[in-house]
Amino acid sequence: MKNTEIEIITSISTLLKAKALKIAIVPHENPDGDAIGSALGLGQVLKNYGHEVKVLSPNSYPDFLKWFSAEVPVLMYNEDKKTAKNWLKVADVMICVDFNDASRAGILEKKILEFPNKKVMIDHHPYPKEFCDFRISETSYSSTAELVYDVLCKAGFQSYFSQSAAEALYTGILTDTGGFSHNISKNTFRVVAELLNYDIETDKIQSAVFHNFSADRMKLLGFCLNEKMQVFPEYRAAVISISKKELEHFNFQPGDTEGFVNYPLSIKNIVFSALFIEKDDFVKASFRSKGDFPANAFSAENFNGGGHLNAAGGESELSFEDTLTKFAQLLPRYAHQLLKTTI
Ligand code: 5GP
Ligand code: MN
Repeated sequence: MKNTEIEIITSISTLLKAKALKIAIVPHENPDGDAIGSALGLGQVLKNYGHEVKVLSPNSYPDFLKWFSAEVPVLMYNEDKKTAKNWLKVADVMICVDFNDASRAGILEKKILEFPNKKVMIDHHPYPKEFCDFRISETSYSSTAELVYDVLCKAGFQSYFSQSAAEALYTGILTDTGGFSHNISKNTFRVVAELLNYDIETDKIQSAVFHNFSADRMKLLGFCLNEKMQVFPEYRAAVISISKKELEHFNFQPGDTEGFVNYPLSIKNIVFSALFIEKDDFVKASFRSKGDFPANAFSAENFNGGGHLNAAGGESELSFEDTLTKFAQLLPRYAHQLLKTTI
C-alpha cells in the first residue's frame, strides 16, 4: 500500500476495534462485482468480529451477484429509503467502498456528505476526493476487494475471515480483473492464494458469475456484434451502441450488457472501445482501452466521466444519435495518441 501511511491503518484499526459498533458499508451506484463483493466481504469480517453491519446500496445489482452466502443484509436505498435512513441515523461508522467521489453514490451522495460520524474510504480509482475522515486510495490494486483484504489484515482482522467473506472478496477480484486477465500483479495472486485457504469453491463462483446468462442476453450480444458494432480501423477504435427499443426487444435485465464493451478489444489492432446505451434521459457511456491510451481522460474530457486508465465510464446529455456522431467526430482529435499506443 504505497499511498497509505501506517497512521491511517492504525487509526482505522482503533476505530473498528471498538466494541459492538453499528456500521454502514456503501458501494457505488449500479454496483458491480467488485463494489458488492468488497462491501459483503468487508461486512462479513466485521460481523464475525462482533459488529452489526448493513450494506447500504444506492440501488439494486444484477441477479448473478445475488448468490453470495454472506450473512450481511443489503438495503437498497431507492427501494426502501425508510429502513436505510434509520440505519444511517444509528450507525457509528460509514465505510465507502470502490468509489472515491461521493457523487458516484448517486442518490446516496447527500446522505454520505451529511453523515455525522466517522467515514472511511477504501478505493482503487485515481483522483480521490476529500469526503472521508480516513482515506485509503491505492491505484496499483486490481480491485477494491484485493485492497480490502490487505487493509483488514494490516488492521488486525486476519483471524475473523470466513469462507463467505473470502468468496465475496474473490468475486470482487475475479470480476474487476475480467477473470484475471487485466490489472493483475504479484500481490493480486498472493491475495487470491490466501483467500483460497478458506475453501472457497472457485468453479461454483466461475459458473455463477460468467456462465449464468439468459438466452435473451446471448442473443442481444450476438445482435450487437453483428449489427451494432462499428469499427474504425484507421483510428484503431470501435463502438457498440444500443437503443432503448433494442434493449426492450431483447427483454433487457440489469447486468445484461456487462462486458459487451470488452469484445471489440479482441479485434486485432483495436486499442479503444466504446459502448453507448440509451437510457430514459441520458446516454450511458463505457470505455475500454489497451496500452497507455487513457480511457479515463477521454471520458473526463468529453463525457463528464472518469475511471481507470483502461476502463472508464461517463454520460452524455445529447440525443442517442448525436452522441454517436460526437464520438465519431472526436476520433480524429485522438488519432495521434491512438496510433502510437503500443500493445
Ligand atoms: P463501466 O464501464 O463498467 O460502467 O465503468 C468502468 C469504470 O469507470 C469503473 O471503474 C467506474 O468506476 C468508472 N465509471 C463508470 N461510470 C462513471 C461515471 O459516470 N463517472 C466516473 N467518474 N467514473 C465512472
Ligand atoms: Mn473496482
